[in-house]
Amino acid sequence: KAMGRNRYEFFTQNLQAEIISHKRTADDLLAGIENHEFVTWYQPQFDAQTNLLTGVEALVRWNHPHLGILAPDRFLKIAEDLNVAATMDQIVLETVLRDQARWAEMGIEVPRVSVNVSSRRLHDENLIDSLKALQIRRNRISFELVESIFLDEHEDIVAGNLEEIRKLGIDIEIDDFGTGHTSIVGLLKLKPQRLKIDRQLVMPILHSPQERALVRSIIDIARSLGVETVAEGVETMQHAALVRELGCDLLQGYAFARPLPFADFTQAARSGWTRAAA
Ligand code: C2E
Ligand code: MG
Ligand code: MG
Ligand code: MG
Repeated sequence: KAMGRNRYEFFTQNLQAEIISHKRTADDLLAGIENHEFVTWYQPQFDAQTNLLTGVEALVRWNHPHLGILAPDRFLKIAEDLNVAATMDQIVLETVLRDQARWAEMGIEVPRVSVNVSSRRLHDENLIDSLKALQIRRNRISFELVESIFLDEHEDIVAGNLEEIRKLGIDIEIDDFGTGHTSIVGLLKLKPQRLKIDRQLVMPILHSPQERALVRSIIDIARSLGVETVAEGVETMQHAALVRELGCDLLQGYAFARPLPFADFTQAARSGWTRAAA
């Protein structure tokens, strides 16, 4: 009985500590937005055939005053719960537009930048107006959307927004493909420019015939419908060689570069890092 009680106290103490820490992170996060602690890092994507720098993904980081740089898995869920995920997406997009202007000023050629768009933001009825206000240049930005966005209700708002986004000259990409249960043909009917194959499918291809066959057929179907494919999680040159052989169009992963802060990315781009080391 005493044991049980200890255990109970142990649990409540733990739970309490967790609640306090969660509450604290939530408060910190809201303050962090006010204090401009959210920064945008960049990861390059290379053309599988030419090795040229062809795309860039913008990835949010929290430059936390005490904890240092934090990856999205530490705060995105909390941001969603606090209803500020869309705010964060907007911050990232505005940063990207400013950074693109800086690259242009420096005379550095940087291709289209993809930003991740949360479900909440795609459902926002004011999304299009806020995008128009930014006067985004055509074909310079693309939106990465996870497949689950297309599964829920409010399909009409989502479909309407997608249509308008495309009219603004912003590409649509399906992110993390292969992790959900969506039919590929259904998704491709949305006419995205690109399909990003999730790293959970890409990473095992060297050793697993199943994943290899799956990746091959995803690439084949996408290609037959005129949709480009991007392999995520290309961790080694062996992965790069194999997805290239399977017909993938773009490669992104640690084999080439990790996500980099603006200064490092710019440095690499400036010093002629327009080609992936083959
Ligand atoms: P994602 O969109 O699938 O982004 C790719 C993730 O894979 C990034 O993680 C990237 O650092 C990581 N990655 C890239 N290459 C490799 C590799 O070779 N191996 C491995 N193991 N990982 C690799 P990150 O930056 O931690 O972002 C995680 C997720 O957070 C993103 O997944 C995206 O869903 C979300 N996210 C990031 N930035 C934003 C944002 O601004 N807004 C929204 N709504 N979501 C974001
Ligand atoms: Mg993404
Ligand atoms: Mg992804
Ligand atoms: Mg992913």
